[in-house]
Amino acid sequence: MYLYNSAAHKKEEFHTHTPGHVEMYTCGPTVYHFAHIGNLRSYIMEDVLEKYLRYEGYDVNRVMNITDVGHLASDADTGEDKMLKGAKREHKSVMEIAQFYTDAFFDDCKKLNIKTPDVVQPATGMIEDYIKVVSALMDKGYAYFAGGNVYFDTSRLAHYYVFHDHDEADLAVGVREGVEEDQNKRNKNDFVLWFTKSKFEDQALKWDSPWGAGYPGWHIECSCISMKYNGEWLDLHCGGVDNAFPHHTNEIAQSEAYLGHPWCAQWFHVHHLNTNSGKMSKSKGEFLTVSLLEEKGYDPLAYRFFCLQSHYRKALVFSWENLDNAATAYQKLIRRIAALKPGDGAVDEDVVKEYREKFIQQVGNDLNTAQAVTLLYDALKAKANDATRLAILADFDQVLSLSLLPKAAQEREKQAAQTATASSGGITIQGEGDPAIDALVLQRAQAKQAKDFATADRIREELKTQGVEITDTPGGAVWKRV
Ligand code: AMP
Ligand code: ZN
Repeated sequence: MYLYNSAAHKKEEFHTHTPGHVEMYTCGPTVYHFAHIGNLRSYIMEDVLEKYLRYEGYDVNRVMNITDVGHLASDADTGEDKMLKGAKREHKSVMEIAQFYTDAFFDDCKKLNIKTPDVVQPATGMIEDYIKVVSALMDKGYAYFAGGNVYFDTSRLAHYYVFHDHDEADLAVGVREGVEEDQNKRNKNDFVLWFTKSKFEDQALKWDSPWGAGYPGWHIECSCISMKYNGEWLDLHCGGVDNAFPHHTNEIAQSEAYLGHPWCAQWFHVHHLNTNSGKMSKSKGEFLTVSLLEEKGYDPLAYRFFCLQSHYRKALVFSWENLDNAATAYQKLIRRIAALKPGDGAVDEDVVKEYREKFIQQVGNDLNTAQAVTLLYDALKAKANDATRLAILADFDQVLSLSLLPKAAQEREKQAAQTATASSGGITIQGEGDPAIDALVLQRAQAKQAKDFATADRIREELKTQGVEITDTPGGAVWKRV
């Protein structure tokens, strides 16, 4: 597979430390609120990547943290802990908030067919590891204690800005307008490894440490969780592009300083879901969640389909109109699959193989999911029987996870249940049980019987404009909505 590696600033052939095995890490959600559909865009695309690697035959160990402490409202280490903000907002304890939104996150993932990682580790469960690593960084001279906090000294590194092809404006942590600089920092980009002092002294969760009672910084959590469950050599690290700096940059700094060797070979960053006023975030604008989509009548998988139609390295603009288009296309696709006949002969394995190769060419080329969606339509027209077409779609769906075959089966059942018969003057027709349409279809059948083909054609055209298709069968006319 070829994948864009943000650390190398180019598309590269995917490689792993141990042949055939992938150690993969994903930055998990900060569980102080529901995930918005922008966050979930990142998790959908990472899910496709994981499933594609498995499809290619890799054995994958995927690890994810749950950030339940230490993620501050400001990247410059001066804000309030987001978890505390959430707890105050809802008059609950931090741990209650964490549990509630962790469960809500995995519920959303389930609805979007996002697989749960092999390991899920809440950050609060690893305090001893952070203390061990921070102590080692102090011993090696990479960290210093100032004003009650432990900081990482970025001036000790020859190369700090690993992802410098990202937008320069994103790199200005300590100098961003309205952000107060922490006077204890020796260098503008030094970051906190362990807090015992902050402006917000009401931090709910604190643990004893050699530097006093306090709590870990957000960045050290991901490094330690990954090193514990993925080992010293990480193959692939994922996250939204806003995490590239400072979060991922700081993860690299502290992990490599601690390990004394390169840490993660490949970095996968998903670009943002934007609204017309910029990046979708929890703090501004309409807060779009999976539940809200459902309330408005959308199938969550229509949102997954919407995401797959675009490349992960391009910003994706959300609008209700764009989502409507994707939802309609998804529904039509399911109906077309429902029209295929499952028991239609034997599967032609050569044709399946041919399509698999095409799929690998597209998805294996920096996860071109838009082309993979196009291939779904090609598969519907494959020069083969329906059983083969269905086998191809099932094969692709191992990666795309659009529930194509189960949804098509549901659609078939729905259509069968809706098929009703109507009759008049000895003529019987079949349809979806709408008396107004039945009346027109019967009228057309009578016209045909009377050899009044002009009227029959006119009625057929009129129904077509209403999205109704008529098929003449030996048992009479059958109509359906398309
Ligand atoms: P958080 O819960 O804030 O820690 O973010 C969870 C994940 O969502 C991280 O990987 C972020 O980089 C990612 N993310 C945040 N906002 C967006 C967005 N608008 N579009 C895509 N990914 C996002
Ligand atoms: Zn992280």
